[in-house]
Amino acid sequence: MKYVYLDYAATTPMDPEVIKEIENHYRETYGNASSFHTMGQKAAQILENSRETVASFINAKTDEIFFMSSGTESDNLAIKGVAFKSKERGNHIITSAIEHHAVQHTCQYLEKQGFKVSYLPVDEYGLIDLKELEETITNKTILISIMFANNEIGTIEPIKEIGEIAKKHDVIFHTDAVQTLGKVPIDVEEMNIDLLSASAHKLYGPKGVGLLYIRGHGVRKGWGKYIEPLLHGGGHERGLRSSTENVPGIAGFAKAVELCKRNMKEESEKLTKFRDKIIKEITENIEDVYLNGHYTKRLPNNVNLGFRYIEGESIILSLDVEGIATSTGSACSSKSLEPSHVLLAIGQKPEDAHGSLRITMGRYTTEADIDYFLEKLPPIIEKLRKMSPLKKGKKYMFDPTYETDQHH
Ligand SMILES: *Cc1c(COP(=O)(O)O)cnc(C)c1O
Repeated sequence: MKYVYLDYAATTPMDPEVIKEIENHYRETYGNASSFHTMGQKAAQILENSRETVASFINAKTDEIFFMSSGTESDNLAIKGVAFKSKERGNHIITSAIEHHAVQHTCQYLEKQGFKVSYLPVDEYGLIDLKELEETITNKTILISIMFANNEIGTIEPIKEIGEIAKKHDVIFHTDAVQTLGKVPIDVEEMNIDLLSASAHKLYGPKGVGLLYIRGHGVRKGWGKYIEPLLHGGGHERGLRSSTENVPGIAGFAKAVELCKRNMKEESEKLTKFRDKIIKEITENIEDVYLNGHYTKRLPNNVNLGFRYIEGESIILSLDVEGIATSTGSACSSKSLEPSHVLLAIGQKPEDAHGSLRITMGRYTTEADIDYFLEKLPPIIEKLRKMSPLKKGKKYMFDPTYETDQHH
């Protein structure tokens, strides 16, 4: 049966060139990068070359790239690292209401440790308000953490403008760019980004490899050292992240970045075309459907649609039967019955937030895949709506005043 993978925001398949690179390193460069012998030094050299490849992609210096085990770890180190190191300076953090759980739950944890966190609301498209951001800064604010692009609805935040505000007030600016790296150009200098998180498995690299860009490798004028490590041990990654380096995985990450550097423009154009085709076809041909997120300030590979009167989970299961992989939004929210915090933050009613479908495309998506999806979806929506008790004019199941006999 035809299999169409449209869940690239959850994870991507590895590029065959990345697999080849990793396999070579597992076979040939198995040394510990801290060892003095030739095999160790070969591994250390690959580590440094990888750092250089990644650094040049975001206009950073080589010694400002720190490798770690995931995007989640990178977000944790950025936020807790600054909070713990700079708590004498201030205890206030500003973030948004639509962050990935790796940022949101880290901030909630810090609240329990006595830090104050402001969760900036977003508008109907998922954009923060720059004026509100600036007004929220106090003399106790140490960190602003706002994601580059949202993983559920694809909205791209005004990063350069946020960077300017952070710089003006001498506040550290962290951005979770896990969904962005490899899709949209990033320049940490031009955008005044101090800390940036990324993860290899979202850009055709291996799972379990992430990075944190740290401006000035963790030293800042007037602040001194501003990052406290979370892992203590042998002092790897210049003391900020102990653990024997995953050299094959890191080399795979660098290879993945190299391939993105080569293909990004062309790939983004292709995906933008597919994205806009899906949005147009579906909103024109299916009733009671709307686009979540912004029309243009949007990742090229993301479509998030709300279908009224049905549940996203049912759509996903029906599409899966046809060999099409999609998602409701975040991988986490699909495990719980709670509606997505992102959709609630853009002002959706809880009952509508249950009807979302996220389609995310990538390098191996073809026009034929899109056409197959566009052929299979409408009859599924029609069938589910026929079976649905959540009809027009009726109360929703999720409404506390809903009574089961209403659809009898
Ligand atoms: C996937 C993702 C993460 C987590 O990255 P892992 O490497 O899977 O831990 C963090 N933030 C965003 C926006 C993501 O999409």
